[in-house]
Amino acid sequence: MTKEYDLVILGGGTGGYVAAIRASQLGMQVAIVEKGRLGGTCLHRGCIPSKTLLRSAEVFRQTLKAAEFGVETDNVSLNFTKVQERKAAIVETLYKGVKGLMKKGKIDVYEGFGRILGPSIFSPMPGTISIEYENGEENTMIVPKNVLIATGSRPKSLPGLEIDGQFVMSSDDALQMDELPGSMLIVGGGVIGIEWASMLSDFGVKVTILEYLDQILPTEDAEIAKEMEKQLKKKDITIVKNAKVLPETLTTDTGISIRAEINEETKDFNAERMLVSVGREANTANTGIENTEITLNNGYIKTNDYFQTKESHIYAIGDVIGGMQLAHVASHEGIIAVEHMANQNPQILNYENVPSCIYASPEAASVGLNEKTAKEKGYTIKIGKFSFKAIGKALVFGESDGFVKIIADKDSNDILGVHMIGPHVTDMISEAGLAKVLDATPWEITQSIHPHPTLSEVIGEAALAVEGIQIHG
Ligand code: NAD
Repeated sequence: MTKEYDLVILGGGTGGYVAAIRASQLGMQVAIVEKGRLGGTCLHRGCIPSKTLLRSAEVFRQTLKAAEFGVETDNVSLNFTKVQERKAAIVETLYKGVKGLMKKGKIDVYEGFGRILGPSIFSPMPGTISIEYENGEENTMIVPKNVLIATGSRPKSLPGLEIDGQFVMSSDDALQMDELPGSMLIVGGGVIGIEWASMLSDFGVKVTILEYLDQILPTEDAEIAKEMEKQLKKKDITIVKNAKVLPETLTTDTGISIRAEINEETKDFNAERMLVSVGREANTANTGIENTEITLNNGYIKTNDYFQTKESHIYAIGDVIGGMQLAHVASHEGIIAVEHMANQNPQILNYENVPSCIYASPEAASVGLNEKTAKEKGYTIKIGKFSFKAIGKALVFGESDGFVKIIADKDSNDILGVHMIGPHVTDMISEAGLAKVLDATPWEITQSIHPHPTLSEVIGEAALAVEGIQIHG
């Protein structure tokens, strides 16, 4: 008999499985259809494995400079096989955890490829979902009252730059490398490019970044991007901006050579391997959306504030709808979508309150408008900036480069954006996120006491600096 569900979720990544848990809490009968492994990009090809490698790189770098801390270490060496084994073990532990959560929530997981077959005869309800299996097993049919498309995204490439998985890699391929190359060309200086550049350089790989625009991390505040560039150059990373990569890639037995136009001059770049990190594209192919009224915008599924597509019983969340392609955004969108299905009247998501983090060394993190976007929106702004150089705990850590920048509205005093670069800022941005959610002013931040000695003192000082009354600088 064809099984019926209140909700069928296509894709068991962070967006999909979190939505499934919330739906189960709300009493829905839920199924997830997942073609790969529960946990999706974040757990298997993104956040968790890349942060695990970054942590190994950090430990390696810190061990190499341990003598500065009075810790003598001889013969420090890197065992990259162990680095990869540690990564795999962490992913496996978390994967088991997600499977356990599905069991706890009595969520049925179908390990196959889900496709929406068409509009339901009970329109406006969605039609049957067919689940296809790689091993050729007969398709399963299930009937949903609601569908949530959470199929995510995949790395994209450039015309003429074919990803072969070996010489020319996407971040998916790079995560699987069993040994490190001597040199790496990175095309694209966005979040992925910068995290990989920092990690590989800390592991001892010679890195060159080719960025198309005149700023790496183009969506970040210009001052943060500039400081990141300065810090990466200190690690001996070559950064080439305004670089237009030409479709003239040459693979040899030992590496790769590409040609780029920089300020109208043509230059060749060589390395053992190349990583292409120029953004991601939505996974919509074969999901059956062509059998529905769903519309796309630039390849991404179009939704309203509650993540309903043009078909009101089919929702979509996460990378497949574009915007901020972040795991925490996908899961939050999933919760809103499911609560909306259950008539819970959820609060709509204000993307200006969503923190984003870059886990390079140095780390960077931000929430809200940057200086350029705030001015473009017509705000009259005031800025407070404070450096880690005057923060005792940063000196104790041996990492005192970087700063916090708070941008506030001169008229209302509300905080518009907070931008950080330096030690552990990805763990400190949540304070700024809460301040944004509560429409706080910089003064209100100063009224929350920042314990001494902590790195978080830099936020209190930056808030005071908005009025020019910082204490230690
Ligand atoms: P991105 O959009 O962050 O950066 C792509 C970069 O490539 C941009 O700087 C762009 O100007 C550049 N570029 C585009 N075309 C180019 C060309 N022809 N030559 C040279 N440079 C070119 O994309 P990404 O870094 O691939 O990351 C994909 C998504 O994954 C992003 O949305 C990102 O936020 C997300 N992600 C987030 C994290 C995190 O939260 N820490 C980590 C990894 C990825």
